[in-house]
Amino acid sequence: MTRSRSPILARPATLILIWCLLLLVSVGALAAWQYRMLSNELAQESFVLHRLASQRADQHDAHMTALSAIAVASDGRSFDLFLDVASTIARFYPRIDEIQLVPLDPQAKIVGTMSLDPAAAGLVRKAALASDGHIALLPHPGRPDHYIMVKRSPNSDAARYGLMLGIDAGKLISDETPFWSRPGVTTRLSLPDGQRVVGPPAMPTAIGFSRPLGSASQPLILETGVEIGITDLLPPLQTLLTLFAVSLAYLAALSALRQRARARAAVQQARLSALESRLAHASRVNALGEMASGMAHELTQPLTAILAQAQAGRRLASRGDPTALAPVLDDTVTQAKRASAILERFRNWSRPQHEPASAFDLRSALTNVQTLLGPEAARRGVQLDVHLPERPVVVVADPVEMEQVAFNLVRNAMEALGGKQDGAGRVTMGLKDDGSRAIFEVSDNGPGVSESIQPQLFTPFATTRAGGTGLGLSLSQRLVERAGGEIVLVDNGPGATFRVMLPRGREKSEAAQ
Ligand code: ADP
Repeated sequence: MTRSRSPILARPATLILIWCLLLLVSVGALAAWQYRMLSNELAQESFVLHRLASQRADQHDAHMTALSAIAVASDGRSFDLFLDVASTIARFYPRIDEIQLVPLDPQAKIVGTMSLDPAAAGLVRKAALASDGHIALLPHPGRPDHYIMVKRSPNSDAARYGLMLGIDAGKLISDETPFWSRPGVTTRLSLPDGQRVVGPPAMPTAIGFSRPLGSASQPLILETGVEIGITDLLPPLQTLLTLFAVSLAYLAALSALRQRARARAAVQQARLSALESRLAHASRVNALGEMASGMAHELTQPLTAILAQAQAGRRLASRGDPTALAPVLDDTVTQAKRASAILERFRNWSRPQHEPASAFDLRSALTNVQTLLGPEAARRGVQLDVHLPERPVVVVADPVEMEQVAFNLVRNAMEALGGKQDGAGRVTMGLKDDGSRAIFEVSDNGPGVSESIQPQLFTPFATTRAGGTGLGLSLSQRLVERAGGEIVLVDNGPGATFRVMLPRGREKSEAAQ
């Protein structure tokens, strides 16, 4: 029946191993998912930032074109308009925090939103002179995190000015989105030749983004990255929830499997029980058949004897010989009693229901048997010893039936001792209590159970005795089994020892003590 259960379900170590593996796999899956989420988010946010920075960079071109036009128009006159526009631009676009108009003639006056040191002015002039019309991009000579854009003005070989815009690179790539203020997230902006303007010297290696800005004049390289720690991949709360959910699902699956295995076992059990009851029925029918034929056989003997005696009696009566009639009638009575004994035993054997079992002290049953069979033992010259424990040995059974069992065993033992003369025969009844069972044994020092009958010892009508019915042991077995016990031949030489084991009546035994 246990075979019907899945073998895995019956192995706790394997179940625990599978559980651990599941937890490991789910933690791995969670980490992979978190990694994917993080890299997707970085890519998305980086695209947005890239677009924003590119648009901002494009605005610088427009400002430079406007400022250059104003500078050329103001040439030779006052640069007030230029300064006005420049300071307005700086106010509205805080990242453009410096605008300078540097004449290519080193003696001429520099116009700008702040003072410019001569070295920086020289750099601007140099860049303007070297310009082929394109805007030059350079790191700011004096301010960290800044780059400068230099354009010649007017934008021709007859250029007289170098127009410079100082850009705060940090502000160019700043964004309010909370993603960029997360710990571990970094941004960096470098000039097209790779010179870093703003950002850390080294970027995170796990996941990142790198692309030049979409502005033709400022193809600055925007790089972003995220430092990934164990808590990013396995956030504690999410990890705990995942482990909990996986364990719960695993337990639910296990209990469903167990349920199914139990249901299957129940179906199989029902099938087996049906089969067993069919078998039991068949064997009962079989036993009844055997019983009936055995009984017919057994009854034939006394009935034939009765018939013969009755016919002899009739002859003697017709002869008027009453003295010869008496032994004939005695014989008839004996045979009739034998027939009645056979029927009585058969009735006991086949009785389906018995008295409700009650808790009683088995010692009293054995004492009764001793009292009943004591005189017969004395007559036969057999020594009948009884060893009983001092404390009660309580069993739950029918007291009369148990007495009958002990009676049969002791009587069989005495009969087996028929050949022993002069008080050499000995029958011993012993009783002990091994905690869960009461055990009583009946031993004799006779010849032992003949080998020929041993295989059918407990089968009805199996006997080696001339006057035996062969029902004593089979009836005893039936009564003992009814009480939930067992009867066996434990020792067969010298003599025979029969052992009866009965379950102890625990609660009642305590009550009885
Ligand atoms: P019966 O006593 O009517 O023959 P039982 O069923 O009581 O029927 O016994 C069956 C047979 O078992 C007996 O005929 C006998 O051969 C054998 N037997 C039973 N008890 C003993 C014993 N103590 N010693 C030897 N043989 C025994």
